[in-house]
Amino acid sequence: MEEMDFHSGFIALIGRPNVGKSTLLNRILGQKVAITSNKPQTTRNRILGIHTTERAQLLFLDTPGLHQAKGNLNRYMVEQATTACSGVDLVLLLTEAGTSLPEPDEPVRRLLGSLKVPISLVINKIDRVAKPALLGQIDAWRQLHDFRDIFPVSALSGNGVDAMVTLLENQLPPGPPYYPEDMVTDLPERFIAAEMVREKVMRRTRDEVPYGVAVTVDQFEEKPGRNLVALHATIHVERDSHKRILIGKGGQMLKAIGQDARREIERFLGTRVFLDLFVKVQPDWTRSERLLRDLGYH
Ligand code: GDP
Ligand code: MG
Repeated sequence: MEEMDFHSGFIALIGRPNVGKSTLLNRILGQKVAITSNKPQTTRNRILGIHTTERAQLLFLDTPGLHQAKGNLNRYMVEQATTACSGVDLVLLLTEAGTSLPEPDEPVRRLLGSLKVPISLVINKIDRVAKPALLGQIDAWRQLHDFRDIFPVSALSGNGVDAMVTLLENQLPPGPPYYPEDMVTDLPERFIAAEMVREKVMRRTRDEVPYGVAVTVDQFEEKPGRNLVALHATIHVERDSHKRILIGKGGQMLKAIGQDARREIERFLGTRVFLDLFVKVQPDWTRSERLLRDLGYH
């Protein structure tokens, strides 16, 4: 194949929290690298997902959700999303089927007016609405901005996703692949493992706990001869009460979180995993610049 027949470039995924950015990325990659949950702000760091086809390499940046900033952590997330859009070849703005257009003062609207990069709209979760409603929504968005394309998809069922990827391939500039074709992410395995633990915490706990949770992997030891990875991870929480919830009666909650996470990390790494979890109270970490940095958020 001629080198110039190949295309490669960066695509930023932006949109409100919970619209399905991470689910879409995992669907495209055919593998889970970005954690997802029905709670907003699941994604805090940008994730690079690498999708290589016969004709192109698409490099996706999954950004934290766009929303009004409040406090250091939130401000950091909005900055990440904005930064992720500069220097990319294409921006995919995700929205949900069956929701109204963004208000004039929403960050999404500001971004639409200021970005120099071509923007395409992805209307996700089309499995939830009837066609006439969807057509009306497409029309309304079209009047709001001159999108390059509008893709109605369901990240959950996969409907419309392959067709979208095929179109995106041609919109990237000609060029060789940046990464080996079997690589799905540039993030360290240790980071993905920490994110998987954090997802299980979010899925298993009540609403007040997740926002104050960070996970670090303190030890990541490969035992190649035995096809085993030993992991020691710490779940940082802000309050004693959160620690109690996370540990649960007789340690049941922590055990369940550990089992869920271990299974998923095993799937990701393709080895057996030994996972040891600790819970540590670290008051106010979401408001502390220094702690955020220590935990890898800067
Ligand atoms: P993000 O915050 O934008 O990254 O959103 P997530 O990918 O974490 O997804 C948020 C929630 O929406 C999760 O509960 C997903 O299962 C759900 N979701 C994502 N895509 C779809 C879809 O196509 N259809 C439906 N019905 N739900 C979806
Ligand atoms: Mg996400």
